[in-house]
Amino acid sequence: MRATRALIHLDRFRRNIETVRGSVGSRLICVPVKAGAYGHGALPMAGAALEAGAGYLAVATAGEGTELREGGVTAPILLLSVPLIEEIPQLVSGRLIPLAADREFAAALAAAAEREGIRLPVHLKVDTGMGRIGCRPEEAAELGRYIQSLKSLEYAGTATHLAVSDSTAGEDIRYTRQQLARFREAVESLKQAGVDPGVVHAANTGGVVFHEESWFDMVRPGILLYGYAPAESALQTEPVMELVSRITFIKKVRKGESVSYGRTWTAPGDRIIATIPLGYGDGFPRALSGNHQVYIRGRPYPLAGRICMDQCMIDLGTGTDIGRWEEVTVFGGTAPGAGHVAGRLGTIPYEITCNINKRVPRVYV
Ligand SMILES: *Cc1c(COP(=O)(O)O)cnc(C)c1O
Repeated sequence: MRATRALIHLDRFRRNIETVRGSVGSRLICVPVKAGAYGHGALPMAGAALEAGAGYLAVATAGEGTELREGGVTAPILLLSVPLIEEIPQLVSGRLIPLAADREFAAALAAAAEREGIRLPVHLKVDTGMGRIGCRPEEAAELGRYIQSLKSLEYAGTATHLAVSDSTAGEDIRYTRQQLARFREAVESLKQAGVDPGVVHAANTGGVVFHEESWFDMVRPGILLYGYAPAESALQTEPVMELVSRITFIKKVRKGESVSYGRTWTAPGDRIIATIPLGYGDGFPRALSGNHQVYIRGRPYPLAGRICMDQCMIDLGTGTDIGRWEEVTVFGGTAPGAGHVAGRLGTIPYEITCNINKRVPRVYV
């Protein structure tokens, strides 16, 4: 196996699920495993999640759902994004649970389910302020009745999604409360219309950590379970992914000599420089050039020069007993996690772990 690997700490993932379980009590936990479980590997994380007591999984595409079914997953799988009409047969044969938010899509689902000779569970998605997919709250009852009237569909749940639940700014807290109020009204209107709202769910990570009133029957925390909670959260979890590599080359450079493309780094004195086989071709962001520290034996060392496609260099200082083939932690584990990396780039940890690509083997520990 190559030197660069993403260690996936399943024990931490299980503990993170237990942490959420300790908070939300008997509610169902839906574990999003979309985008290859945020880069951690969909099938192994799905298996670990179900073992740890998850009741549902969630994916973003019919293909992701199919992959889980082919891997032997029998648990309920929510399909969070709206697929194309031509993808419906695939989601039906995979017995995925789509989120429906309009008549056209619901009718197409019903037709496909009828052809397959099944009754397909469907959740209604209500847009209470995310502005992505969903019906307007005031349309929920009518749409719910319509779905209920379609014999090949089973009205099984009602969902919404929160836009700023991970923020503790006053205005954002008010916005989330307003979303939840609209959602409760929509659920109430369904009941009034004689539609059992089924499994009611709204909470992403922000909802789980900051808004107990968003928990309803099921919660859908993603990034929290992969180890990243908002800083102000009382509920903290451990990073599951640890990106590691090993030193494959080591050398002395003299004062004034440059390292890597563009010659952005010049040795301020005689230095020892190590090379590791990790680059932007692995999904390690090139924008971290000159702005990241790796950890060796628990101590930080800065990158030297630009990150290349397949390699990058580390400044080990003026004298060191660190040798070739030694283990390097890039993030997670003994090094700060992907949240720290994300902060330096003005992005979010989701993007950092998702982008570590297929060239990096996942090693489950
Ligand atoms: C991705 C996603 C989640 C999980 O979000 P996190 O911020 O990772 O907790 C929950 N619900 C929906 C609809 C999503 O798309």
